[in-house]
Amino acid sequence: MKITLANHYGMCFGVRDALGLTERAAAEGAVTVLGDLVHNGVVQEQLAALGVQRGKLEEVGQSGTERVIITAHGAAEGQRRAWREAGFAVTDTTCPLVRKAHRALAQLVAQGVQAVVIGQAGHAEVRGLCGDFPGTRVVEGAEDVAALEFAPRFGVVAQTTQPLGKVLELVECLRARHPGAEVVFKDTVCQPTKDRQEAMAGLVREQQLVVVVGGRYSNNTRQLSETARRAGVAVRQVETAEELQAEWFAGIERVGVTAGTSTLEETVQAVVARLEGFGAAGF
Ligand code: SF4
Repeated sequence: MKITLANHYGMCFGVRDALGLTERAAAEGAVTVLGDLVHNGVVQEQLAALGVQRGKLEEVGQSGTERVIITAHGAAEGQRRAWREAGFAVTDTTCPLVRKAHRALAQLVAQGVQAVVIGQAGHAEVRGLCGDFPGTRVVEGAEDVAALEFAPRFGVVAQTTQPLGKVLELVECLRARHPGAEVVFKDTVCQPTKDRQEAMAGLVREQQLVVVVGGRYSNNTRQLSETARRAGVAVRQVETAEELQAEWFAGIERVGVTAGTSTLEETVQAVVARLEGFGAAGF
């Protein structure tokens, strides 16, 4: 069995920086992360082992520590301010590319558009994006676009971890739904997501099966799996090497491996090592 790693895979700079800041903060004393720092169980276990506590961004003031951390997914400006005004020392690990999406949305709203975010309703990043702009509509699929009422101007941004192809399709869907409206789209999909999605397109052309390594609740990991499925390639998504089962690879000669932006390199290498073991065993 030949194993090929994607040209781009795994942890992005935004998550790496957030993790580094959090580890340094934990070394200095008690600290609480407001939400999931990243949607990756392995990373969360490591942070718990360092004594990092968990709280909720929405529950302002409900923290057992005086120092709190805003995650790489970002927050609404109002929430950031509320924690500071409540007397907490806030370390903000919001990714610069999430901040860019916030700025893009703010500029569109200032132009008087009906704001639309293409993304996963309820995801921390999307909640943050919508938090300061009540009335923003979130769409994840064509059926959500069909439910949007007419507005003379729509201003559209995307959750940073959505596949660009899907985002562009939904923008076209909105134009077709309301031909009389102006639709202004700002591409806020982050470059690491684009790189991983493009690399996945390369993998599905050449591989019989793709293993996607990442957290069950990680949006970008889920999107990588979806891209492989849409291309008609078998896909297995795992959080750890131990979840791999030898029988999945019976008769498979070419397997590709990729990983979401919150996956540790050591997890990817453990997956590759286990696959090599299966290959040596003749699967
Ligand atoms: S996935 Fe993109 S937006 Fe999210 S932390 Fe990584 S670089 Fe930043």
